[in-house]
Amino acid sequence: MSVHVIGAGLAGLAAACQLTELGHHVVVREAAPHAGGRARSYFDKQIGCRIDNGNHMLMSGNISALSYLHRIGARRSLLGPAEATFPFRSIKTGEAWTLRLNQGSFPWWIFSRARRVPGTQPHNYRTLLRFKRAKPEHTITDLISTSGALYNKLLKPLAISALNTMPEEASASALQYVLSETLERGGYATLPRWARIGLSETFIDPAIDWLRAHGAEIRFGERVTELAPGQATVVATPPWIAAELIPGLTVPTQFESICNIHFKYEMPPGETGFWGVVGGITEWVFARPEVISITISAANRYLDISHEDMVRRVWAELVKLFELPAAIPPHRLLWERRATFRTTPAQLKLRPNTRTSNPNVVLAGDWTDTGLPATIEGAIRSGNAAAMALMNPT
Ligand SMILES: Cc1cc2nc3c(=O)[nH]c(=O)nc-3n(C[C@H](O)[C@H](O)[C@H](O)COP(=O)(O)OP(=O)(O)OC[C@H]3O[C@@H](n4cnc5c(N)ncnc54)[C@H](O)[C@@H]3O)c2cc1C
Repeated sequence: MSVHVIGAGLAGLAAACQLTELGHHVVVREAAPHAGGRARSYFDKQIGCRIDNGNHMLMSGNISALSYLHRIGARRSLLGPAEATFPFRSIKTGEAWTLRLNQGSFPWWIFSRARRVPGTQPHNYRTLLRFKRAKPEHTITDLISTSGALYNKLLKPLAISALNTMPEEASASALQYVLSETLERGGYATLPRWARIGLSETFIDPAIDWLRAHGAEIRFGERVTELAPGQATVVATPPWIAAELIPGLTVPTQFESICNIHFKYEMPPGETGFWGVVGGITEWVFARPEVISITISAANRYLDISHEDMVRRVWAELVKLFELPAAIPPHRLLWERRATFRTTPAQLKLRPNTRTSNPNVVLAGDWTDTGLPATIEGAIRSGNAAAMALMNPT
């Protein structure tokens, strides 16, 4: 069978790989001159080096993403610690701590003062069980108090980065889905992982090479404006484009931004890695050999701050955290306005299923109803599901 995949983001690429593996002839049609969509790398002339459009982190429990990397021969291109360790620093207090989960699923790290969040007691973690009883309409702060160390030093940063939505508005059941696939399964499912060189080198370029080597056709610069009748098709575009291609389709309509700032700065040897940050604007810091990058999720709350001011404030925080020189180095600010849909109870209801009313047309994308928030894992899972739905029409 010949299948058209519209969109070469991670969802489209995952669907294309799955269908190619099953022996179908796949044509990937991508509007941009490159693949990767919201997860890609490029050479930035302003700072003179290659950067990712945004820092992306995976967890070792993201099994679909890891199988995808295995299939395209890129499993070894991820980097991360051998233990589930998450170093944090507080801008307000200067405090530094490292969350250290144990390997197995019984969470004995909670009982170790050196491993758990400072300022918490083992019984505080019982509150996490409330998320198991979350109803679709619950937000995170409907279920947990916003005071206390567990919320401010763990749940809030986790929720903002995983759901890209402020906890006051974010769906508690979406957070529970994330917890059930990571923290609840223990340290072996919660090892932090990121691309060794760049997102494209890990997730995108090897997929394109693999697809071409297996006979798939990849067409760039091809913006699809209508679906060919009778053609087996995976629509793997952003939701607003899918809604144009498939009249009557219900899709999420509200989005959240993510702000990344990449500073060209050589960290001293041994100082590379990542840190979570609380108490400021900066949320995550990724120090690579040439570039120190920061991520701010759910960034709509900062939209009225000018880019210059944002850069100035973030660099001042980095100076304080890492004792860096005060002069701001060359930098690039990337503010993805529609980074993900907002993971609110109301928006979750708008996520469509993989199948459409047309048995020839299926949907893929992090915005389809995967249960997961809009993440790499969700996008890849949606692509796999779309391929299987096309193969098994009901
Ligand atoms: C800044 C940022 C940081 C993030 N951080 C993380 C993270 O740390 N961890 C994590 O797991 N996830 C993260 N994500 C989310 C992750 O990037 C996305 O979930 C994933 O990339 C979505 O893939 P997708 O294929 O569903 O959509 P997209 O990547 O949006 O792909 C859609 C593709 O369709 C193409 N297209 C659009 N219209 C047409 C048309 N008419 N014809 C043909 N092609 C078309 C687009 O050009 C695009 O290539 C982050 C996202 C951003 C933006």
